[in-house]
Amino acid sequence: MRIALLALALAAAAQAADGDTRIATWQDDRTAAFLLMFDDGWPSHWQVAAPELQKRGLIATFYINPGKGEYAKFPKEWEKVRAMGMVMANHTMTHQGAATPEAGVKEIEDCQKALYALQPEPAPRLISFGMPGVKEWKLPGDQHQATLKANHLVDRPPFTDHGAVYHLKTTAQMLALADKAIAAKGMEYLVIHGVERIQPNWGYQDFWALKQDVFLPLLDALKERSERGELWITDHVSWHKYKAEREAASVRAAPAGSGFTVELSATTDPALYDLPLTLITSVPADWTQAVVTQGASPITVAVAQGAVRYRARPGAGPITIAKAP
Ligand SMILES: [Zn+2]
Repeated sequence: MRIALLALALAAAAQAADGDTRIATWQDDRTAAFLLMFDDGWPSHWQVAAPELQKRGLIATFYINPGKGEYAKFPKEWEKVRAMGMVMANHTMTHQGAATPEAGVKEIEDCQKALYALQPEPAPRLISFGMPGVKEWKLPGDQHQATLKANHLVDRPPFTDHGAVYHLKTTAQMLALADKAIAAKGMEYLVIHGVERIQPNWGYQDFWALKQDVFLPLLDALKERSERGELWITDHVSWHKYKAEREAASVRAAPAGSGFTVELSATTDPALYDLPLTLITSVPADWTQAVVTQGASPITVAVAQGAVRYRARPGAGPITIAKAP
């Protein structure tokens, strides 16, 4: 008797009503998020890291110091890294610290100017901030926070226990972070400095160079987890936007004709929090494809397990879901 009741309860839970809509925890309904971060604008980032990421369809966040020699010598190479879809972030202008509050503000804001020169649009936008490890930083905490806020900078999580080479030596140790994120359906991240360069005489030495025989198998294993739908490998700001929008969002669905209308709203500022969220809507059993429309461009989506999955922007108008002809 108890077993029969349990089976009935399970069947009821699995049988979502048509039109029921939920917001995926992470983009494309992946289980967890994982962020790769590269610090200090080392040449090995464009020589090795970015091309290896691109080969596997992965992206990362690059925390640059535009006023540091290693970076300033190769502006064209950094334009290529950005054009690959990698995301640039603020690590201060020179990584030299600040002897006065004014110097601290200038370190942050000069880096902002260089980031907007590298990528003018959209402006303003949210940009990630990674505080460099410096001996002296005479910008008091409240002024530091106010400067980040005024520049739409989002502080990244701390380096503690997340540094490749410094804290984590092996591929297995780094993958354990990714698997921890999957188990918790949360987010984890890895901070990398240099990457080993095999060819001699590159010029400019890298810092804490991560061996390629650790780095490349790590990328392969992350790609596998991404393809299995376990990891969303993204940049820090996209993760931040998705989480903030999801937490501020509400979704409402209603029947409309033979399909549904879905209203998605969020209390976040749509000018800065502009990343689409992933929605999953249950549809009638006889649907095999649906047409999903928000704004002017309809997309056709396959039905899987009685539902359609699609991306939509909060506050960007109603979404209509109709059976595909
Ligand atoms: Zn640094």
